[in-house]
Amino acid sequence: MDFPRCDRCGDAGCKVGEPGKFKDCPTVVSDVTRDEIVERYHEPEINRIMQNAAKVERGTMQPVNGVLTPIRPRISEIMAFADLMGWKKIGVAFCLAARDEAIKLTKVLEARGFEVCSIICRNFSMQKREFDIAKEDCLKSEMETVCNPVYQAELLNEAGTQLNIVVGLCVGHDMLFSKSSNAYVTTLSVKDRMTGNNTIAPLYSGFFSEILKRY
Ligand code: SF4
Repeated sequence: MDFPRCDRCGDAGCKVGEPGKFKDCPTVVSDVTRDEIVERYHEPEINRIMQNAAKVERGTMQPVNGVLTPIRPRISEIMAFADLMGWKKIGVAFCLAARDEAIKLTKVLEARGFEVCSIICRNFSMQKREFDIAKEDCLKSEMETVCNPVYQAELLNEAGTQLNIVVGLCVGHDMLFSKSSNAYVTTLSVKDRMTGNNTIAPLYSGFFSEILKRY
């Protein structure tokens, strides 16, 4: 079976309605027809989300001196999207390392009238030894506390949040959180210990430059 490889496409012709010139284009390798995909987006909830995502994008990109320019940050976009969806109760799942940002975020959300539930990663003070994590995989000892993303999600599920915002969860823990959350999940920030959470900086710095030169 062929797989799509948009990364290898020369011109991203899909942007101007001309996909398929490239042999690994999804429009060439997939058996799914375009009409079938369009139909999927007519499912009411999906369609509503697409409608509101467009409204949020349009609200953010405003003409400034004749040029479409972003006029608000993602935090404001998330709140605008929640307003459009009619979501009033928002969960914030945050990492201990992102506590400051999470505290500020909850204040902003509350000031805008949202009801907020927030859960830190170390809830219940689980220890690594309880999850059979080997000593050599611990930073100091098996007694150190460990993130508990499944329960971050479960407790927000119990609280009945309508949207959950991830703030700084670790790789892996963020996946378990998203998988376990009943509500839709959007990410405000992810943890990148080395770059101060600027996850794409290594792609623009010299960090991978040898690899990028070679391939
Ligand atoms: S969808 Fe097709 S045209 Fe668009 S980037 Fe992918 S391969 Fe290129």
